Amino acid sequence: GCPVNVRIPEFVAKVAEGKFEEAYEIITSTNSLPAISGRVCPQENQCEGKCVRGIKGESVSIGRLERFCADYHMKHSDAKAVKPQSNGKKVAVVGAGPSGLTCAGDLAKKGYEVTVFEAFHTAGGVLVYGIPEFRLPKAIVKKEVENLQDLGVEVKTNMVIGRVLSVDELFEMGYKAIFIGTGVWRPNTLHIKGESLGNVHYAINYLQNPDVYHLGSRVIVIGAGNAAMDVARTAIRHGTRHLECFSLSKTISASEYEASYAKLEGVNFIFNKKPVEITDKGVVFIDLNEAEDGTLTELPGTEKLYPADSVIVSISQGPCTTITDSTKDLKTTPRGLFETDEVGRTSIPGIFASGDAVKGARTVVEAVAYSKNVAEAMHEYMQTLPPDLPDAYANVPVAEYDEGN
Ligand code: FAD
Ligand code: SF4
Repeated sequence: GCPVNVRIPEFVAKVAEGKFEEAYEIITSTNSLPAISGRVCPQENQCEGKCVRGIKGESVSIGRLERFCADYHMKHSDAKAVKPQSNGKKVAVVGAGPSGLTCAGDLAKKGYEVTVFEAFHTAGGVLVYGIPEFRLPKAIVKKEVENLQDLGVEVKTNMVIGRVLSVDELFEMGYKAIFIGTGVWRPNTLHIKGESLGNVHYAINYLQNPDVYHLGSRVIVIGAGNAAMDVARTAIRHGTRHLECFSLSKTISASEYEASYAKLEGVNFIFNKKPVEITDKGVVFIDLNEAEDGTLTELPGTEKLYPADSVIVSISQGPCTTITDSTKDLKTTPRGLFETDEVGRTSIPGIFASGDAVKGARTVVEAVAYSKNVAEAMHEYMQTLPPDLPDAYANVPVAEYDEGN
């Protein structure tokens, strides 16, 4: 059940023997971000969902054990990653989320000179600008980024590729291959009346900096996925007193674990309601009938106004077009995701893509797993390239300043 194939029985056995560093070595042989995955993986659908102990009772807490080993290592080991011998080839990675960071680490370990270009002012992607601090402390992500920097990876923040520099310009600057891991950052909208009112916000925007929002005491969250749980729990921590989460279906799509915390913290769930209009007083919902097969039908005449000071729409995200607008030959799917083959090759030779920007909104370790394969394909691609021409200015004379002027 683990997308990155952590050798679970082996590492759990080492934990049981008290050999935590050995357990850590086993985990990191296939998983580069254990302190993060141990905290944010939806384990009930992945590793723990397959644990045979879960059939009759509770599964082994694999995620918790993984997190413990990673934290133990961080606390007790001062071993630093060492920059490998350079092979002189430059690679550009666009986006410093789990995909980009994984690819950067794997290629740096093979001796490539890797530069990561990140639009935000801190590296981490959703790990920093989406998942709240109470679920994943930012210091942990920072530490993982520092590990990559020790390997020689250069991280350039506040650099929006497609706006400041185009992908083609990166090739002109000597990068031999480009990895795109830009995720999905354009919120999906409801397309209903009133959505442009000032009291309507979007999950991914709100989570970037909740401190600057004044939501009021009653908030409606539309959507019941994992991001909606993060929004709801964050809003409650920022002073919201009454928080209702509305779901189209009769179930919560967030993981049981996240939903249970949301309930404990006071989130109230309302099911089978579809928003039809937003006003400055709240949201008008219509009731839905849910058939056995999950088909939803509106029940005319059941519309009611549910009062709220603010509304946060949390119905997933799609890709931004900043890169594709500036590099027209990059093919995309009808949803605007990068079109790639199974190892991340896009329609332009030398440009690869991975993570949510290719698969749509998924999970952290899925992005890590896929990006590892893509990094391998990039390595193979770069082996086929002709040797570099010598640097035209390698032997130019060095000018001397006349300090007296
Ligand atoms: P991202 O993490 O989105 O990173 C993309 C990076 O690219 C960003 O830093 C962005 O700023 C940068 N970028 C974009 N465009 C440009 C550009 N033009 N130039 C330069 N940089 C650019 N998954 C889990 O497994 N567990 C969870 O608990 C979980 N919770 C989540 C909660 C929320 C609120 C959200 C939104 C998602 C959650 N996910 C969770 C999903 C998970 O975070 C993503 O699947 C994962 O982050 C995808 O990684 P990525 O590197 O492909 O993209
Ligand atoms: Fe489970 Fe995630 Fe660790 Fe895999 S990486 S063992 S899915 S917690």
